[in-house]
Amino acid sequence: MARTVIAVVSLLLLSACLAENSVTGRSQFIMIPPSQDAALGLEALNEVKKTAPVVTEGRMAARVQRIGQRIAAISDKPELPWEFIVIDEPVLNAWALPGGKVAIYRKMLDNLDDNQLAAVMGHEVAHAVLRHGAEQMSRAQAQNLAIIGLGVLVSSQTEDQETAQMAVGLGALAAQGFVALPHSRKMELEADHIGTIYMAKAGYDPRHAVSLWQTMSRLKEGGGAQPTFLSTHPSDDKRIGRLEARMDEYLSYYRP
Ligand SMILES: [Zn+2]
Repeated sequence: MARTVIAVVSLLLLSACLAENSVTGRSQFIMIPPSQDAALGLEALNEVKKTAPVVTEGRMAARVQRIGQRIAAISDKPELPWEFIVIDEPVLNAWALPGGKVAIYRKMLDNLDDNQLAAVMGHEVAHAVLRHGAEQMSRAQAQNLAIIGLGVLVSSQTEDQETAQMAVGLGALAAQGFVALPHSRKMELEADHIGTIYMAKAGYDPRHAVSLWQTMSRLKEGGGAQPTFLSTHPSDDKRIGRLEARMDEYLSYYRP
């Protein structure tokens, strides 16, 4: 009986949360309504500002804001409350929060020219437009619920409390914030594709999306920890191959 109820509720939840993305046509499972994106993103950004060296004024911030706003303006959601910030840390990383809050780390600014930076920002703007953060969060929450359910099931069927606790602990792990959660491989390739269209439409040469990943590949060889932007699953070669295969399409959007 309980199992039937859970199954029916899950099914209702699932159908209520599946929506076709108007940009990609892909069906996405998202439990967060679009109306909440802006508030969630702002809340998360305020949390970041408490602990990270966020820069919103000066030359570095102005550069990021100039490129970012140009891309946001031609994106599919120019109406989002876009905000572009710099995090003054020597890290090769960038991320986007729901509602269009985008951060670029200083090491990116130090090593990339404006066209390559536009490729990074096109990619991040695409993540925000396509609601990848909300989608990733929804997946983690669904997994969390499933794992807690599994933990309860395990603990009711075995004396092994440790196993049950471990199952619940895994759930807590999945409930990390937007910033720490890596996107799926599919989302990364989607952000590369839509992001390159955006950068081209904003007047940046899309061939620099390829040179970006070549540069990143070179910079990574220095070693060190892999931030979210780099540790995601598609390899640089795969990303470059996909971008080169569709370069004619990207160039057709390019108005220098
Ligand atoms: Zn990404």
